Amino acid sequence: MLDIPNYQRRKSVGVKIGNLVIGGEHPIIIQSMTNTDTADATATANQVQQLAAAGSEIVRVTVDTEAAAAQIPKIREMLDAVGCKVPLVGDFHYNGHTLLTKYPGCAQALAKFRINPGNVGFGRKKDSQFATMIKVAIELDKPVRIGVNWGSLDPALVTEMMDSNAKLEKPKDAATVTRDALVSSALRSAATAEDLGLNNDKIVISCKVSGVQDLIAVYSDLAARCDYALHLGLTEAGMGSKGIVSSTAAMGYLLQQGIGDTIRVSLTPEPGGDRTREVVVAQEILQTIGLRSFTPLVIACPGCGRTTSTVFQELAEEIQTYVRTQMPIWRETHQGVEELSLAVMGCVVNGPGESKHANIGISLPGTGEAPAAPVFIDGKKVTTLRGDNIASEFKVLLHNYVNENYALAPKTNEQRG
Ligand code: SF4
Repeated sequence: MLDIPNYQRRKSVGVKIGNLVIGGEHPIIIQSMTNTDTADATATANQVQQLAAAGSEIVRVTVDTEAAAAQIPKIREMLDAVGCKVPLVGDFHYNGHTLLTKYPGCAQALAKFRINPGNVGFGRKKDSQFATMIKVAIELDKPVRIGVNWGSLDPALVTEMMDSNAKLEKPKDAATVTRDALVSSALRSAATAEDLGLNNDKIVISCKVSGVQDLIAVYSDLAARCDYALHLGLTEAGMGSKGIVSSTAAMGYLLQQGIGDTIRVSLTPEPGGDRTREVVVAQEILQTIGLRSFTPLVIACPGCGRTTSTVFQELAEEIQTYVRTQMPIWRETHQGVEELSLAVMGCVVNGPGESKHANIGISLPGTGEAPAAPVFIDGKKVTTLRGDNIASEFKVLLHNYVNENYALAPKTNEQRG
């Protein structure tokens, strides 16, 4: 983690999930969610594996039908068979009490249950159905996430709080009461779960909304009122740059305040788009703030009228792609490589200076400059690349730098032969 001025992580109770701990002093965990039909075990196991390979440390799957619940043990087995140990979380709405009791293999194979207090059931059945799920969690020693959502907030609670508010001398506005209701729903449900016997180190809380300022207000309030581990995410963030920007704006502020123990970026993929994008964005949020390092990031200038060539843009993209594809290997073989910094710059104005700040940087020639690309390693110019093979020659320099500067991980017994 970088030295972040004035940063102080909110104290929370750590919750063990598989080999991970959410909260406490532990690193902020990245999670994601599948969008396959969970009843299709092969498709779901494949997507879980892809998300885990991209860096998702926990993966949530919908468990909405008996067919889905029946496939959970098989999905777990398929993942274990290929060495994918990522913990699976089951997302339950309305019928979770039935599925968790009727399919004990499903309950056992899941590492955590997500329960939405607004979607547990209706009327008098609501409390007993919530209690049933909590009792299964206690019996199997599983943690739960009490995950409240703006779009499915318990209407009875909202009505109760609106009525109480109306009787106040100075009533709050409706938006404030709704935000209060979100936090109250989560905290009341957590208190009920504790009354039923679930320990506080088995409870993670989330209160997701879709507006940036609402999320900041809700989580600031939640963080001040409890020490449960918090799952942070802007729900229904949207597609493309809108989803990325709004998630980053909201979560960036909260993470900087020390709030958030696990994050999910809820991006809507483009049709046919890559589901793992949300994992990469989550990693980039944490890494650019300085909270965790996952992969070397390439610093690149935006380009301007001083360079009509797109060579540096193509090189920046090629190097970032190269680094991402190398990371699954480097992560195992070269400890600390995720901290490496790279710069690919477009001309002499900021190129050499920015390149000198990186571990390894290259400054390509702008319009009218001599066709030469000086390379800097740890602040010193080491060579100048020319001609058509700049990209491949720069990759060789990068590869050599990684080999020379990052400790080789100890060999396994198999590697020793
Ligand atoms: S480094 Fe050069 S090409 Fe890149 S933005 Fe700055 S002036 Fe423009």
